[in-house]
Amino acid sequence: MTDRSQPVAATAVVLSQALQSTQSCEAPPQHLPFWSTQSRKNRHRVTKQHTPFQQNCSIVWCDATGEAAVIDPGGELPRLLGAADERGLHLKAIWLTHAHIDHAGGTAQLASEQGLPIIGPHVGDQFWIDGLAQQSRMFGFPPAQPFTPDCWLEDGDTVQIGQEMLAVRHCPGHTPGHVVFHSAAAQRVFVGDVLFAGSIGRTDFPGGNHAQLLDAIRTRLWPMGDDTVFIPGHGPESTLGHERRTNPYVAR
Ligand SMILES: [Zn+2]
Ligand SMILES: [Zn+2]
Repeated sequence: MTDRSQPVAATAVVLSQALQSTQSCEAPPQHLPFWSTQSRKNRHRVTKQHTPFQQNCSIVWCDATGEAAVIDPGGELPRLLGAADERGLHLKAIWLTHAHIDHAGGTAQLASEQGLPIIGPHVGDQFWIDGLAQQSRMFGFPPAQPFTPDCWLEDGDTVQIGQEMLAVRHCPGHTPGHVVFHSAAAQRVFVGDVLFAGSIGRTDFPGGNHAQLLDAIRTRLWPMGDDTVFIPGHGPESTLGHERRTNPYVAR
């Protein structure tokens, strides 16, 4: 499950690179820059690559309260908790973009151990949640348990952490219940596996729909603005404008 659309022949190469890179997972975790100084200063986030699929797990927090939410805890929970601890953050919620194993595999354990509510994704991903144990066996992840979200998300909802609010947009296509989390004030959006730098999410999994994905990107992401930085589920950040102009899957 590399999640990025790519020619079929290249899939094995990318996957093996991802697996090789996990052998160096003891290296210091990659720290991506905090939200830009042009955005409001009290809104921060840190993103680390987790799981054998090098999934980007993000912690977002409100500086005023120190309250934090974890976006897509795919696994490696000790690293995740350590990153929150280092910054003196209080984890208050888990937000899920979608229920693929590399994004949601650590959810049940983290929620029960830390007493955190599970927010999202959209109910369309119920079947992926139900299949988490099977996904973990199939893709070589530690055993993952299904869970029941405390709150399903729908297009137009908002999620709040401390004094910070992010908008929820439903972006189906990679999975039926995929959502993204957008901070208009900070010009940041956490897009999971909808869009990548130079690629888009795969749509050949059960419930995938290529036309829906393109429609979601064009009608729900592009209006967020060319300068909006997106944090994808894998790989480096980019801006929506750069992808709109150059991404071969969605550029016109
Ligand atoms: Zn993924
Ligand atoms: Zn995915």
